[in-house]
Amino acid sequence: MTNTISPEALAKLAPHYIRSIAAYQPGKPISDVARELGMRETDIVKLASNENPLGASPKAIAAIHTALGDLAMYPDGGGFALKAAISKKYAVSPEQVILGNGSNDILELAARTFMRAGDSAVYSQHAFAVYPLATQAVGAHGIEVAAKNFGNDLDAMLAAIRADTKMIFLANPNNPTGTFIPGPALCAFVKKVPQNVLVVLDEAYGEYLKDSDAYDSAPWLAEFPNIVVSHTLSKAYGLAGLRMGFGLAHPQLIDLMNRVRQPFNVNHLAMVAAVAALGDDAFIAESRRVNDAGLSLLKIEFAKRDLETIPAFGNFITFKVESTKRVFEALLRQGVIVRPIAGYGLPDYLRVTIGTEAQNRRFLAALDIARAQEK
Ligand SMILES: *Cc1c(COP(=O)(O)O)cnc(C)c1O
Repeated sequence: MTNTISPEALAKLAPHYIRSIAAYQPGKPISDVARELGMRETDIVKLASNENPLGASPKAIAAIHTALGDLAMYPDGGGFALKAAISKKYAVSPEQVILGNGSNDILELAARTFMRAGDSAVYSQHAFAVYPLATQAVGAHGIEVAAKNFGNDLDAMLAAIRADTKMIFLANPNNPTGTFIPGPALCAFVKKVPQNVLVVLDEAYGEYLKDSDAYDSAPWLAEFPNIVVSHTLSKAYGLAGLRMGFGLAHPQLIDLMNRVRQPFNVNHLAMVAAVAALGDDAFIAESRRVNDAGLSLLKIEFAKRDLETIPAFGNFITFKVESTKRVFEALLRQGVIVRPIAGYGLPDYLRVTIGTEAQNRRFLAALDIARAQEK
């Protein structure tokens, strides 16, 4: 007999908290814009996903070439070589490292390992979209704390912790606002968090901090066993397409997350590339130099145009315009993709990734045309 159950009835197999998830909205891909507007892909500049405008570390690319012969084999599910490289770089033991298919994977592993339906997680207004998504996917309740000056309000976040709170998510610098909390203030906050609540500290943009702001959270792990620090190779290392991230935490937490992790969650090329990229200090130095120069340029140029910006510490800057919809679309028609962030509670702002100098100048010229069309 043919099965006659309706798709609507089948959908009810999924719990209500899954059915009510609003899917992640990624930056608009170059290929979409090319197709929709009849443009050549090479004429489009994407400044929408905080990718590295210099591309990937050349050492990572070379390492991938040498590893292409290994593709028939399963990757090393234990990630021995990469964990050794990470433990050396961050002065932690390999047992304190977990590898992820992007740092997104680490955030989700933390949520799936430590939270269940009925628990709660605390995060800020304007926080990274993955925090509410990972929380909702396990049926936990998200407690969104009002932002202070667009950033994490640490005192309010502490006050929001309830008996059922299992974790706090916090990105530093924060995305999409770009705000930053100095290391000592963050460490003082971690000290005040109840010991049975995990602090998931997302350092996706840590490599971009100026020397005067940079801090090392790895030593905190020894003092506070309730931290999970997530890192990514998608941003400064220029490997977003490979999906590579990692987490640092107490060995016991890592052991639990490893039980939930897919056995081969990270692919071989990503691991090989990551080992090479983590050792490519020259590439990171150049990426930081280009980013510092671009961020300075954009800050000056936004100020000249009387456009309000949010203090930026990563590889992007968020600015206010008269009409985000019209400016976003006018930029698109000129082949410049930026990121609307209405979904993050910032309907009057657009976020632009720092590009090369040529890309930044092209963005500014396109912005002037877009705003002139407004008048
Ligand atoms: C981009 C970004 C990441 C990185 O995600 P991946 O899965 O590693 O690509 C993580 N956290 C924040 C806040 C980000 O903006």
